[in-house]
Amino acid sequence: MKLTHAEGSGSILKSRFAQGCRFALWALVAFGVVSAYGDVASGFTVDTAIPAGNAIVNSIDGDTVSIRQDLRDTKGEWFYWAFRVKGAAGRTVRFDFRKPDGTNLDIVGVRGPVVSRDGGKTFAYPLDGKATTRGFAYTFAPDENETLFYECHPYVRADWDAFVARHAADAAKGTFVVETLCRSRAAAEVPRVRAGCLKSEPKFRFMFTARHHCSETMASWVFEGIVDAFLADDDLGAWLRANVELMGVPFVDYDGAQAGDQGKNRKPHDHNRDYSEFIYPETKALTEWIGEHAKGRLDAFIDLHCPWIRGEYNEFVYATRKDPKIVPPSAQEDRFSEILEKVQSGTLRYKAANDLPFGQKWNKGVNFAQGWSSVIWACHNVKEPKVCRAMEFPFANANGAVVTPEKCRAFGRDIALALRVLLDGR
Ligand SMILES: [Zn+2]
Repeated sequence: MKLTHAEGSGSILKSRFAQGCRFALWALVAFGVVSAYGDVASGFTVDTAIPAGNAIVNSIDGDTVSIRQDLRDTKGEWFYWAFRVKGAAGRTVRFDFRKPDGTNLDIVGVRGPVVSRDGGKTFAYPLDGKATTRGFAYTFAPDENETLFYECHPYVRADWDAFVARHAADAAKGTFVVETLCRSRAAAEVPRVRAGCLKSEPKFRFMFTARHHCSETMASWVFEGIVDAFLADDDLGAWLRANVELMGVPFVDYDGAQAGDQGKNRKPHDHNRDYSEFIYPETKALTEWIGEHAKGRLDAFIDLHCPWIRGEYNEFVYATRKDPKIVPPSAQEDRFSEILEKVQSGTLRYKAANDLPFGQKWNKGVNFAQGWSSVIWACHNVKEPKVCRAMEFPFANANGAVVTPEKCRAFGRDIALALRVLLDGR
């Protein structure tokens, strides 16, 4: 007997065998309607009532779950998903990612799902090398009653709040302040952060942004690492606090990041194609903040992203280089990439040669036909930037290295160090 679910969140659940022992349950949670799908006989349920949850169950048939990502307002396909399984202790359950018509979906990351067995406190890749691009089988331990499966390491407001709490002493010292950028479309307060040289006019200002595409979570850990560098009790931290003010926006698509949206290719255009029209409050507020607070002048503007799920240009760290006609003097950009490759101390193995030149692959003018990106806007509007670029951080594999939040944080510090070397020579 098979339970089917037709068309995503909010649609009507249909059971082929209404009198059968299988059931489905709609649960109302704080942020909307979330469906739970279950099986009385086997006892396990699949639901999305977790931070940034996102999935639609097509069917559960015995120990096989057919499931897919919830595209919501995405144009075309994307690959973010996140769900929870409860009550499957001791069982081996197969998860197949498929469209409603049965077509396979290749939306499992290159190291398999990111899994938490402790309610989201810690995550790992237990199926690295065992999952395929379109599914995996997972054996739940005899005492494993609740397991979270994510396409990538989740990062939501609670993670940011925990980061802020860890820096309470820095806030007291006046080197770290969290403010409100604006209210999001859903009326949430969108945070912005300043760190470093805040009590006097800084010699330099850097701006960092993350989550223009809300499902690109590894960018958030890089963002944390950059801010950490500004607050660290070491030589680099001391130099940054003496010379640089960091301006940062941790969630540009704030609502999407909390809701577990795809974000990329959101209709009518996504947040990083909004710098022509400014239909999202965050993008408008971000540009106004640069104008008012930094008087339109930044020494570096770096927008942090993650690429596609796998393949060339998706399994190494790289910068996307813009049209030489609009970027700062290219020699500075080249130099920054060279320095970054040289000074990196982590294991994400960035290579300057992996940067994506303008005009190659997807990095073409036509890609911005929907509207300007933040970097294109900054290249045209920010005065005197030495570095103005987007950087891409893969989800799971970087030139053979396992990508983890800790390694992304370490790379964030490397970015801050490379900027210091570029500007200060050491
Ligand atoms: Zn992106």
